Amino acid sequence: MIVFDKVTKIYPDGTKALEQASIIIEPKEFVSIVGHSGAGKTTLVKMLLAEEIPTSGKIFYESVDVNKLKKHEIHHYRRKIGTVFQDFRLLPNKTVYENISFAMEMSGREEEEISADVPHVLELVDLTNKAYNFPHELSGGEKQRVAIARAIVNQPDIIIADEPTGNLDPVNTNDIIQILKKINDLGTTIILTTHNKGVIDSLGRRVITMEKGKVIRDDKTGRYVL
Ligand code: ADP
Repeated sequence: MIVFDKVTKIYPDGTKALEQASIIIEPKEFVSIVGHSGAGKTTLVKMLLAEEIPTSGKIFYESVDVNKLKKHEIHHYRRKIGTVFQDFRLLPNKTVYENISFAMEMSGREEEEISADVPHVLELVDLTNKAYNFPHELSGGEKQRVAIARAIVNQPDIIIADEPTGNLDPVNTNDIIQILKKINDLGTTIILTTHNKGVIDSLGRRVITMEKGKVIRDDKTGRYVL
């Protein structure tokens, strides 16, 4: 379970990005966080990744106070969370296969595990035929599927997808959402931030709406209301 308990974040320049935000996310949920640009969505995500610390309030993951983790513990903790971003963040000089295998190497996985698991995730995102292509040879949708494969290959408990469809057309957007749904069905918690009304309405899952750093709605089978 993830708990944001009255989290306020004021950046050093005085910007109040979050104000008393409280959210509970159960294991295996698929939660979308929506809100206009500047509403505090990315700040919320950064808090969960322990990349930013709250000014007040607490964040717990499975009863662990995320901000009390020591440096070496943070590294271990972040492995439970896979991330996908709007700008893909692939390594340009590595093939699709290597982008994924490298993430496993960085987590200290054995060669045997790597050669067993990479083909498996490539199949899951339907990119087996692009394994030896480089990122610049892929479409935006394919790049994002590589990023998803890389995010899931170490079997995280949670996937944070921060505007993953922001650079994609409607067809690719739909593909990405379907893959995220499939990953969720396999038991991974998904936290999706998006601006895309169509995505939210088609998902029919929980929607948390943020405005000016506050949680203003939390709908079980939500719609995009802003
Ligand atoms: P969203 O992801 O919903 O667009 P953000 O969490 O990125 O919102 O931003 C929330 C607010 O915090 C905005 O006003 C933004 O300008 C501000 N902000 C974000 N990061 C920083 C930072 N590092 N320093 C100062 N202000 C920031």
